[in-house]
Amino acid sequence: MTTLRLSAGDIDQAAGIVSSGGLLGIPTETVYGLGANGLNERAVRAIFEAKGRPQDNPLILHVPDESWLERYCEDIPAAAYELSGRFWPGPLTMILKRKDNVPDAVTAGLDTVGMRCPDCAVTRAVIEKAGVPVAAPSGNASGRPSPTTAAAMLEDMDGKIDAMLDDGPCKVGVESTIIDLTVTPPRLLRPGGVTLEELEEVLGEVAVDDAVRRLMAPEEQPKAPGMKYRHYAPKAPVTVVKGDPDMTAGYIAARMGEGSGILCFDEFKGYFRGHPVVTMGPVSDQAEQAREIFEALRAFDHMEVTDIWAQSPSEGGIGLAVSNRLNKAAGFHIIEL
Ligand code: AMP
Ligand code: MG
Repeated sequence: MTTLRLSAGDIDQAAGIVSSGGLLGIPTETVYGLGANGLNERAVRAIFEAKGRPQDNPLILHVPDESWLERYCEDIPAAAYELSGRFWPGPLTMILKRKDNVPDAVTAGLDTVGMRCPDCAVTRAVIEKAGVPVAAPSGNASGRPSPTTAAAMLEDMDGKIDAMLDDGPCKVGVESTIIDLTVTPPRLLRPGGVTLEELEEVLGEVAVDDAVRRLMAPEEQPKAPGMKYRHYAPKAPVTVVKGDPDMTAGYIAARMGEGSGILCFDEFKGYFRGHPVVTMGPVSDQAEQAREIFEALRAFDHMEVTDIWAQSPSEGGIGLAVSNRLNKAAGFHIIEL
């Protein structure tokens, strides 16, 4: 299949691809997604096929506003509308009880469904025009870092999808925050662009799922099925070094081997002369680190490196999401100083 290149002026054409059961690369503020008509079981199955995604890892339904929630969800708690009022459109996915019209292929057979309204006018317009929710996971091949540009998505998906809708680089850079509202207290399943601190302001107590901070054993049954899979990984193995940035830079510089690539904060690139270095923004700019992290991990696949050492972002605010993605890319191979 030849993948058509579309841009913001091609909303009708993009919507036509969705309504006719095709696969569309969609821009969002978080990462690019691999979208299809979320009510069409066959189209949804094609998403799993194109990504090589395990069938038990559900997708998120993307909608243009909160008035669509009651079409696909039931027993919606007041908290859902408090959250949508404050954070939608935006990088927040809410897990709610699903209605029967949501295909099993979307939810991987769960009785819940993930709902999100992306902060991307072009994609919301495509959904409105198509008149159906768009089911989408991130637009990478399964296991690879998520794409934050159309070019990155085409590295994995050119020839496997009908069209790629390009709306420029993603503003947030890490996937949406996922909050499960079907349990008490609400549970954070994946950290993202809406921070834990912000959720607590609206919800009070929020439980943080174990899988956010540690590796799940293969036999464990996580609440979000995606949590158990190897994720976001470049080809070379990654070691994350946690601690004060001056110390972690010194630690890495003393131990890096001949073929080591280094992922570091801008301030420290001079420490690793003679090595392939990829930077992820300044120590203090967490939003920049979020925008850079996936492109940085992808960059190593274009370099000759045998292993990768990474400085660890601090965990407050959106840093919890950035360090979570990096830790997963490292298979939780972490050294704490
Ligand atoms: P991706 O953005 O590529 O990670 O794909 C969607 C994410 O949403 C995956 O991590 C899924 O496990 C998660 N997800 C989707 N639906 C549900 C659900 N009903 N319950 C828990 N997690 C979900
Ligand atoms: Mg993904």
